[in-house]
Amino acid sequence: IEDPAIDTRDIQIQALHLNKRYRRDDALAVNDLSFTLHKGEILALLGPSGCGKTTTLRMIAGFEQADSGQIFLQGREVTHLTPQQRKIGIVFQDYALFPHMTIEQNVMFAMRDTPKGERADKATSWLELMRLDTLRQRYPNELSGGQQQRVALARTLAAEPELVLLDEPFSNLDASLRESTRNEMRALFKRSGTTVILVTHDQAEALTFADKVGVMNQGFLVQTDTPQQVYQHPANAFVARFLGHTNLLYGDALDGFVNTPLGQLQVEKSLQGQVQMSVRPEDLHLSPAPRCDAAARVISREFRGHDYFYTLERDGVQYCVIAPRHQNFEVGSWVNINVLRGGSVLSG
Ligand code: ATP
Repeated sequence: IEDPAIDTRDIQIQALHLNKRYRRDDALAVNDLSFTLHKGEILALLGPSGCGKTTTLRMIAGFEQADSGQIFLQGREVTHLTPQQRKIGIVFQDYALFPHMTIEQNVMFAMRDTPKGERADKATSWLELMRLDTLRQRYPNELSGGQQQRVALARTLAAEPELVLLDEPFSNLDASLRESTRNEMRALFKRSGTTVILVTHDQAEALTFADKVGVMNQGFLVQTDTPQQVYQHPANAFVARFLGHTNLLYGDALDGFVNTPLGQLQVEKSLQGQVQMSVRPEDLHLSPAPRCDAAARVISREFRGHDYFYTLERDGVQYCVIAPRHQNFEVGSWVNINVLRGGSVLSG
């Protein structure tokens, strides 16, 4: 924030060195976590169960107090403010709908700041967006889990908050509804310039929905970057693995090259000594090979519709390769593995 090159007026939320421990002898649930999010950006906090995603979200919302650290909303410190004072829209996993109100009333209730005359029309458009218009007169207990989840989303969005927090908001929707709801919501957030923080353990969801992905592990925010960067240039082996299948290769860097078991890979010239690299399975290529010491053996083959996912073994090491559907190698056959596109160097 001290950097004069950064226009601080564009910052929607800034978290600085947040720490949270629930019990004295527990490990930190959130460990020195910092990030900055600009207006209109969508951040996905991605990580395995128990890594501290929900705790982070609850601290931002004000439901949980950080042990130390600060939270700023549009430059105003809110670290010790109540949730109501923060004016953030939140959708939790358990929806928390008002049971005695109809779906429409639930949505209208959130529109207290909207002029009375406009509420019904606006509520209708939110209900239509969430494909709930035919259910508007029902009560929450008359809806499926997925439908309740959509009501919770509609109700939060109806209040038109500047910052929206979403905790696994699509988890109860079936696969096709999840994808379409996600796409529509992203388009809607982009149109309205809403800043969003989404918590998920689904890497595909994080990559498709967010502008920035923050990968968490054991309380730490390990890497925050664009979906392309975290996927193609993961900071370490944990990020590489959490974002999909990968091959971890080791070798010595010298004069801009690393000799790995799969061949020579190009790296930055300044790099020296032992390095670890990540090469995605779609960046490897298989070709038939006569049985020889240098070839790999097909251990298993999974047909996935548009491609094959192969597991191979060479010199006691396993590799994974995604090959097009026409490249069909039998289990037990011998193949050569070639690197199509260079991997990325991991830092730890
Ligand atoms: P999930 O994806 O399973 O929801 P998460 O990444 O959101 O997980 P958190 O719920 O933030 O993780 O939990 C982080 C750590 O803090 C975990 O080790 C969890 O057991 C612990 N924890 C969370 N809430 C409490 C609580 N109220 N009391 C004590 N420990 C807690």
